[in-house]
Amino acid sequence: MDLKNKVAVVTGAAQGIGRAITLNLAQNGASVAVCDIDENLAEQTARELRETGFKAMACGLDVTRISSVEEMVKKILDKFDRIDILVNNAGITRDTLLIRMKDEDWDSVLNVNLKGVFNCTKTVSKVMMKQRVGRIVNIASIVGLMGNAGQANYSASKGGVIALTKTCAKELAGRNINVNAVAPGFIQTRMTDKLSDEIKNNYVKLIPLAKLGQPEDVANTVLFLVSDLSDYITGQVLKVDGGMVM
Ligand code: NAP
Repeated sequence: MDLKNKVAVVTGAAQGIGRAITLNLAQNGASVAVCDIDENLAEQTARELRETGFKAMACGLDVTRISSVEEMVKKILDKFDRIDILVNNAGITRDTLLIRMKDEDWDSVLNVNLKGVFNCTKTVSKVMMKQRVGRIVNIASIVGLMGNAGQANYSASKGGVIALTKTCAKELAGRNINVNAVAPGFIQTRMTDKLSDEIKNNYVKLIPLAKLGQPEDVANTVLFLVSDLSDYITGQVLKVDGGMVM
């Protein structure tokens, strides 16, 4: 994959899946903006990339605040002049059963996972529309397709991301901007490390490939969706779940 001269922005990029996506894009030639609410960790990731010879900058970013998103875009344009790739990856969970779910559990998850994608897509797509080229990849989840007990807020947010992906794909296609979603299954990160071994083992039983996914599995799919190999693909949801949902 040749992403030379492309500028990529990844949200929630300081760790987990976002970090793997950022490394993969940089290793394939892109200049990357490592954007995360944890600015220190984002700077650490960007520094590691620069020390290994890649072009990287860090941005503190709260996807829920439009002013923070606009500031991020300004910083990136000042440094790199353009934005070719946006990966909306920042996401959180606040799991509990519906009847116990507090308003703040609902609001915070919808705010980060869905409104955050709206804020970043709206702001960055204006830049891409002027350039008349761009790629947007939203990190959804298979629970946005199938639902999951204990995740009313999270599954609703990811279902919303899938619908938003399709709408944006239709609205932005005329400007040569492809918008797709990746729906990971069970990927080994800090987000899933919180779960008990019993829950993890029960998930593995439901996965035909009989193992948890790795952040790199998602990163490789994102790489495909931002590369020229996927020129004729837009509005799609690509599952990366070991065959869990077919
Ligand atoms: P993670 O390790 O928790 O990483 C998420 C990153 O996003 C963290 O650095 C987090 O910072 C940051 N973040 C949180 N709120 C933010 C905000 N308001 N603005 C900017 N950044 C923010 O999670 P992950 O497992 O890599 O998940 C990445 C994405 O994949 C998420 O969208 C998640 O829903 C999706 N996904 C994950 C799995 C899985 O099995 N792991 C499966 C399906 C989908 P803090 O830690 O400081 O909050």
